[in-house]
Amino acid sequence: MSTNGTAARLDSDEVKLAMRGREAEILPAICPELGEAIEATGTKHVHCPFPDHDDKDPSFRIDNDNGCRAYCTCDAGKGDAIDLICRLRGCDFKGAMELIADYLGLVATTREVIRPSTFELVARAKNMPVESMVAYGAEAAKRGKVEVVRFPVRDESGECHSYFDLTPNHKGWFKKGKGKRE
Ligand SMILES: [Zn+2]
Repeated sequence: MSTNGTAARLDSDEVKLAMRGREAEILPAICPELGEAIEATGTKHVHCPFPDHDDKDPSFRIDNDNGCRAYCTCDAGKGDAIDLICRLRGCDFKGAMELIADYLGLVATTREVIRPSTFELVARAKNMPVESMVAYGAEAAKRGKVEVVRFPVRDESGECHSYFDLTPNHKGWFKKGKGKRE
């Protein structure tokens, strides 16, 4: 998902924090096949939910008090809640984060904020379309450390004899010049 070059992404630490203590509720919602193990109390074992494990003698168990960590005699059946989601839903860590966030109603946050250009800021502040400024010959420039939009100021013959610098929150400065760009 991408808007204007910004990337909305889930913060996995936030997702994990929101999940903490709610594993026994979240896991069966995403992986219904774990419902039986989560409902089983104490150290009661149930049939392993992984189809590759021909588990005639129930050997799978989930420790609800320990972040729903799973134990089994097979490798697939061992791990934490996120491991289980990845293996049962066939997704990677990121995919598991998305499933959990989806369940919890968490929204991806946009971390990178694209700073509007001085042109855009001036356009907004002065209610003047960027295209018109460009058509007038405006250029992005620097006045000391300040980014400005610099307009050429022309005499009757059309020759540029000075510049007018605009910033979003200043009335503007005249810059003396002889028509030569610095
Ligand atoms: Zn197993």
